Amino acid sequence: MTGAAVFLDRDGVLNSLVLNPGTGRLESPLSREQFRLIDGVAPALFRLQSAGYALVLVSNQPNFALGKSSLETLSQIHQELVAELLYAGVHFTRYCYCLHHPKGVTPGYSGLCICRKPSPWFLLRARDDLGVSLAQSWMIGDQPTDVQCGRAAGVRTIRIASGCEGAAAGVAADHTAGHLAEAVEIIFAQRPSAGCH
Ligand SMILES: [Mg+2]
Ligand SMILES: [Zn+2]
Repeated sequence: MTGAAVFLDRDGVLNSLVLNPGTGRLESPLSREQFRLIDGVAPALFRLQSAGYALVLVSNQPNFALGKSSLETLSQIHQELVAELLYAGVHFTRYCYCLHHPKGVTPGYSGLCICRKPSPWFLLRARDDLGVSLAQSWMIGDQPTDVQCGRAAGVRTIRIASGCEGAAAGVAADHTAGHLAEAVEIIFAQRPSAGCH
């Protein structure tokens, strides 16, 4: 395969963040039952897929490393994502999860790693393994680290306003959008065939 990809962050972009009563913060779902695709996400992904974009998930999931979740629970949440996408006819080319955390407590998953965003590792792997053209590709996420990751890989970036954005110092995205469907509109508007060149 040679072509363009859309690299997608998961939490806050594809699925809703969940209010953790303990911390008062919006966080990743902690169970399969808490996982819910955001309205409009499935058709937006289907639209990208239909236009020929490879869909690649790039997600940091440190809760096992941090001792907050089992690997089985993380797997169940992933399976729920896959099932809901399948129901919508959406197929991701690849799901990339970094399960590490620099301050983790779980042996084998703690300390520095090569793949945690803002590292562009998974995007570079997609370039090398799948023949993705990064110059034609996009990264969509809701955190500064998503934008930094995309920038480091040389893709264009769209920041989604999820309500959980971290401080954005020095990492302005190329575009911002309120939700994924709006981000997809931006991508289509930037396609060569839609422009004047
Ligand atoms: Mg996110
Ligand atoms: Zn990692």
